[in-house]
Amino acid sequence: MKTVQTTTSAFEAIEAALSPRHIAVVGASEDVGKFGGRIMRYLLHHRFAGELYPVNAKRNQVSGVRAYPSLDDLPETPDLVVICVPQPFVRDVVETAGRQGSRAAVVVSNGFADAGDEGRAHEEALVETARANGIRLIGPNCMGFISAATGTIVCSSNILNIERVPAGGVGFASQSGAVLMAFMDCAFRCGVGFSHSVTLGNQADLELCDFVEYLLADDNTRVICTYVEGLKDPDRFVALARRARDVGKPWLMLKSGRTPSGAEAAFSHTASLVGSYRAFETVCRENGIVLMKDAEALLVLAGLLERYPTKPVGRVALSSSSGGSLALAADRLFEEGLSIAELVPESRKRLAEYYPPQITNPVDVGVATRDALGRVSTPTAEILLSDPNTDIFIAVISTAPDLRAMTQYFVEGAAAAGDKPFAVVLEPAALADSTRESMVAQRIPYADNFDAMARALGAWHRTTSSISRDLASKPPVDWPAVKSLAAGELGEFEAKALLASVGVETNRGGVVSDIADTESLCADLSWPVVVKVVSPDIVHKSDVGGVVLNLDSPAAVRAAIETMSDTLATTCPQAHIAGYLVQEQTIGDAELIVGIRQDEQFGPLISVGTGGVWVEILADVEVATAPVSAVDAKRMIRSLRTAPLLEGARGKPALDIAAAADVVSRVSWLAHDLGGRLAELDINPLLLREEGLGCTAVDARARLTDELNPPATPSAQAATA
Ligand code: ADP
Ligand code: MG
Repeated sequence: MKTVQTTTSAFEAIEAALSPRHIAVVGASEDVGKFGGRIMRYLLHHRFAGELYPVNAKRNQVSGVRAYPSLDDLPETPDLVVICVPQPFVRDVVETAGRQGSRAAVVVSNGFADAGDEGRAHEEALVETARANGIRLIGPNCMGFISAATGTIVCSSNILNIERVPAGGVGFASQSGAVLMAFMDCAFRCGVGFSHSVTLGNQADLELCDFVEYLLADDNTRVICTYVEGLKDPDRFVALARRARDVGKPWLMLKSGRTPSGAEAAFSHTASLVGSYRAFETVCRENGIVLMKDAEALLVLAGLLERYPTKPVGRVALSSSSGGSLALAADRLFEEGLSIAELVPESRKRLAEYYPPQITNPVDVGVATRDALGRVSTPTAEILLSDPNTDIFIAVISTAPDLRAMTQYFVEGAAAAGDKPFAVVLEPAALADSTRESMVAQRIPYADNFDAMARALGAWHRTTSSISRDLASKPPVDWPAVKSLAAGELGEFEAKALLASVGVETNRGGVVSDIADTESLCADLSWPVVVKVVSPDIVHKSDVGGVVLNLDSPAAVRAAIETMSDTLATTCPQAHIAGYLVQEQTIGDAELIVGIRQDEQFGPLISVGTGGVWVEILADVEVATAPVSAVDAKRMIRSLRTAPLLEGARGKPALDIAAAADVVSRVSWLAHDLGGRLAELDINPLLLREEGLGCTAVDARARLTDELNPPATPSAQAATA
């Protein structure tokens, strides 16, 4: 058997798969209990316009279409081969298809990596065969794809029992077939149209990024949606996110795995505060991906962006015949960080023709003084949406004697204002069904509740309004060469020495193992001093009585050590006590935590948060991929919930945020220079003084590893910064 070694690019293969001239279905059947039966059924039902070649060894026709015993018997080479036969036969089919010159196959069959170690071995062999024969694979273990743009429906889902799949601008790549199908079924109902929707299955060969890259280049696709469980190639993911942002194509993302896993909460505070989802969230935010938490809001936003691509939506105008609905809606907008559009005087003057003089946005049409309530809605919508301060107008429909007519009045007014973003919220259930149909027919985006609308607008607004990062390309001016260090855990003394070597201010002190040595050590320090236990077994020293502050004489130091030693013998009898750290006590007015954590996928993350004893309780932390500039670090600090306290709330003096930002930037460069070896680092606390008086790291911990995992994100950053 001769194998033709050709390489087929992912793009070429996806193009062939999504717009094939001919399709072979291997394992075609008339039994809709089987994948091969359902796929045939929907290919025929949705009238695939090209040639269809069912392959079935036992029949000469399937559902009235001439069938062939094997791929070798077909009159021409199919652009796409759909494989529905059981796992043991798949590899042979792929081999034949590739050898004959087909460039793409959809493997619906399961029993590969989805079926444990043995299945994984089959999958590897399958990919090898595909490579050797120049054919690319979607799946295995997938539900196929739905390409409304090309009329190619290769999918086994019963959501396809509809007349026609609405074509439109939403492209979707999903790691779960079921999630995508449920989403599409909802989308069909509200008239959101699709370009190409692909279920990725096990992603043995073609993977998420291949499809995103395709959708980015595809003219039919105006909005990209993805459902992701895990990434195969984080660097490429980041690069594609930047490209999507650069070409102005919104990329909306649903990601599972939001809740932290216990394994992440081991060594440092930072690790428990900055889990892997937080890392993912950070990378999405920095690169313009709209991360959504639920499919309902994702659908609302996809529908809105398909209709009004890349328009901002921060300032919202609202109208309703229900004051209650408006009040609830306004609450949700505020919670999502959106604002109620402040109308220009001209608009208010125009509204006053119909309403009491103090009228403004949001407008309750029920208080109109002129005309029938319905008819007033038309000029109201037109005035609100035409206002230069309005980004989007939303008509909130609660109940009305004639809901559909009421809604239509708003629709007409909005249309008169031109092509600015307009959407409807239909609060009732069955009562609004005919109105829903009317919205679909007119291609007006709508949501069934204001909450979903608010989540959608909030997510889009946060993405479009977040200030793009000043990606740090240069370290601080006086940046030293970072010393090479042995792997291992660094306690407070060593960790602070490392920080001091890169210009972070730390307090002076030394370690004594013998109480007799305290006198000479204290002679070098200024009073008062602090005594802390030094032990590799004690992570939180003050929890076990291992920190004593405010010591003002050598005698007090000795007494403190003696008492501490007794205390520790009861609080942690197993701990090995290596000595006692005697250090200067530092004055500070606020405590921050600054940390590094290595993310498996995205490399080092720098975080800064509210420090001290409230760290975990407040969980007030901002995260960025390292390195960050001092400008970005300042922005991070100013985004903390407790930032007002640092900036001088209630008559208190402003603290030295600039000095803290410098520390954050330096720590991030330290992580960058250690090239993935700095597994974790915590400064807690960094004590901040008044503006101009700097800040001091008074406690720190770090862990260095041997392996040099090159950090993923900084290199990607450097490449495109
Ligand atoms: P741990 O975090 O292991 O319990 P720390 O060294 O952070 O121990 O000390 C606990 C707290 O004591 C700090 O959060 C800080 O408020 C205070 N503290 C520790 N060292 C100093 C110091 N040198 N100067 C002033 N305050 C200090
Ligand atoms: Mg501490």
